[in-house]
Amino acid sequence: MGPHTTRFAPSPTGLLHLGHAHAALFAARHGARWLLRIEDIDATRCRPAFAEAILEDLAWLGLAWEGPVRVQSRHMAEYAAVLEALAARGLLYPCFCTRADIAAAIAAQHRPGAAYPGTCRGIDPGRAAERVAAGEAHALRLDVARALAETGPLGFTDLIHGPRRCDPLAQGDVVLARKDTPASYHLCATHDDAAQGVTLVTRGEDLLAATDIQRLLQALMGWPEPLYAHHPLIRGPDGQRLAKRAGAPTLRALREAGLSPAQVRAMAGFPDAA
Ligand code: GLU
Repeated sequence: MGPHTTRFAPSPTGLLHLGHAHAALFAARHGARWLLRIEDIDATRCRPAFAEAILEDLAWLGLAWEGPVRVQSRHMAEYAAVLEALAARGLLYPCFCTRADIAAAIAAQHRPGAAYPGTCRGIDPGRAAERVAAGEAHALRLDVARALAETGPLGFTDLIHGPRRCDPLAQGDVVLARKDTPASYHLCATHDDAAQGVTLVTRGEDLLAATDIQRLLQALMGWPEPLYAHHPLIRGPDGQRLAKRAGAPTLRALREAGLSPAQVRAMAGFPDAA
C-alpha cells in the first residue's frame, strides 16, 4: 500500500462528536496526506457556524489537514457541469414524484428494502421537458440500468472488507439533484474525491452501499477508482452507535469538561503510541 491521500468530509449540520473524531483520526492515520472537505451542499441543514466549529475542534484535537479546506458550496458550477454531461448522454430523467408518491410507490412493491421503482422513467421525454419548462418541481434521477449498460459490472477493493461487487440497481434510480439541493451528496463527494486526488476513501461502514453508486459515477465520468476503507462505527458503552441523536458527547462538551486532546483521542479509539 503506497502513501495515500485521504480526506475527512463532515457535513456542518451540528457539532463534532466522538464518532466524527474516530473518522477524522482514522483518515489522518491512513494518509500520507489528509485533506479536509466541508460538505455543505444542503443549505436547509448546514450552518456556517458549525463549519467554523469543525475546524476549531479538529485543530484542538491535534489534527492538521493539508492545504486549503474544500468547501463544497463554493463549487456549484463544477457539479452543475457534471449533471449537464450526464444529461447530455441521456442518463438522467426528471422525477416529479412528491415524497408521498415515492412512499406509496415503494410500499406498493410489498418487498422489504424496496427502492423507488422508477415511476417517472416512463414519462415521454417530450412531455417531461414540457413539464420542466412549465416550472413543475422535480428532481433529477440517474437511470441506473442505462448507466450500468455503459459501464459494465463494477466492484471496488476495501482494505477492511476485501473485494466487493457493486449492486447499484438495489438502490433504485438515485436522485442526483433536487430543487432545494441542486447537487446530491453522491455527486459532490465523488466529484471532489477525484478533483482532490483522494486515493483512499475512508469512512464509516454505514456508507458501504454509497460506494456502489459512487463507483458508478466514477466509471461514467472516467474518474480514477480509489481504494476504500469502511471502518466500523465506534459504539457507546451500551453498544449503540455514537450518533449525535443518541446523545453522544460532543468534542466541545468533553473539552469543556476538562478532558485533554490526548484523552479524547483515546476515547475515539486512537490512544497515542506510548
Ligand atoms: N458528509 C458525509 C458524512 O458526513 C461524508 C461521507 C463520506 O465520507 O463520503 O456522512
